[in-house]
Amino acid sequence: MNIHEYQAKGLLKQYGVAVPRGGVAYTPDEALTVAKDLGGPVWVVKSQIHAGGRGAGRFKDNPQGKGGVRVVKSTADVEASAREMLGHVLVTKQTGPDGKEVKRLYVEEGCDIKRELYLSMLVDRSSGRITVVASTEGGMEIEEVAANHPEKIVKLAVDPLTGLRGYHAQKIAFGLGLAGKQVGEAVGLLKNLYKAFVETDAALLEVNPLVVTGEGKLIVLDAKMGFDDNALYRHKDIEELRDESEEDASEIEAARHSLNYVKLDGAIGCMVNGAGLAMATMDIIKLYGSEPANFLDVGGGATKERVTAAFKIILKDPNVEGILVNIFGGIMRCDVIAEGVVAAAREVSLHVPLVVRLEGTNVDLGKKILAESGLPIQSADHLADAAEKIVKAVKEAK
Ligand code: ADP
Ligand code: MG
Repeated sequence: MNIHEYQAKGLLKQYGVAVPRGGVAYTPDEALTVAKDLGGPVWVVKSQIHAGGRGAGRFKDNPQGKGGVRVVKSTADVEASAREMLGHVLVTKQTGPDGKEVKRLYVEEGCDIKRELYLSMLVDRSSGRITVVASTEGGMEIEEVAANHPEKIVKLAVDPLTGLRGYHAQKIAFGLGLAGKQVGEAVGLLKNLYKAFVETDAALLEVNPLVVTGEGKLIVLDAKMGFDDNALYRHKDIEELRDESEEDASEIEAARHSLNYVKLDGAIGCMVNGAGLAMATMDIIKLYGSEPANFLDVGGGATKERVTAAFKIILKDPNVEGILVNIFGGIMRCDVIAEGVVAAAREVSLHVPLVVRLEGTNVDLGKKILAESGLPIQSADHLADAAEKIVKAVKEAK
């Protein structure tokens, strides 16, 4: 789960991290009030969407206009910028061409920037450790720096047993080109960020830019945070920061029914039990010349209700031209699954071809239920047979 910049800054502040003063606003009036409270003389009006590149992004209805992060010098301009942003769609490198509607703003005090640096922490799957990534090239996309100037990136994997030590932090500070008093400040900052990362079960914390101010202070000017969904149950306060309007509606609905669903771009909807089998099913659909529309693991205890919910989610996707159900009845019995599939197909008035492959306990009874349902369900004997049948059925239906 991701959160907005202002929420991340609020969280980091609790860990003693220096961030500019600011306030959230949902209307131009609120933006004006926040600006007056801050006092100026420089304000920054920042669109809050779950995507980066806002500064360089452009509003869909005004592509020649200014971006999603604006530095202004009067409260009147704060209000005017707020009007131009709220309710308008911002397109950035990270949003894709459809962009995202700006529904909230963060109005912040302007900062006297001397240098812009890059700093992030993430759970690195290859080392299995929290890795710190730092670069002197802040303010631009780290992918670009990695591609063009890999030598300007410092990486450091932190041993979970020792945590982030002083010498780790010093190495990062030197990598950032800091010297003198700033090294000590950077060490303190890194320790606080690491503590925040571990204690909140974060998956990603990106500060881009981290700035050195005219006075030589280090300030977190932009913050992006994402958390491990599996650990959210122990962070109710963070879960409350969820902004569902920023998330995929089908994925939210799937989570409500404890389904593991990831939307993809293909034409064949998949309903499978078990993540490994789901991956294999997606692979074999590709092998037979089509593309999966989603990854969907209904889990071990797929009840009739869950199967129905899964069907509805798959069918809501306008790209879906056919469905492949591939269920292995281990603890689950195939006849129960078949009943669920038939009931779901009736309830959602299925309008695309459906191939069902069942295997395992009570498979014959399951197949009999499908055959006698009177519904246009094709039964398949094995994985390849199922993939071939659904790809063919979709072609013929066109
Ligand atoms: P994004 O990464 O989405 O473009 P940022 O928060 O990084 O958004 O802002 C983009 C740029 O705007 C920053 O690199 C910085 O130069 C400038 N900026 C952002 N916040 C402030 C601020 N409080 N004071 C001065 N400049 C700012
Ligand atoms: Mg940024």
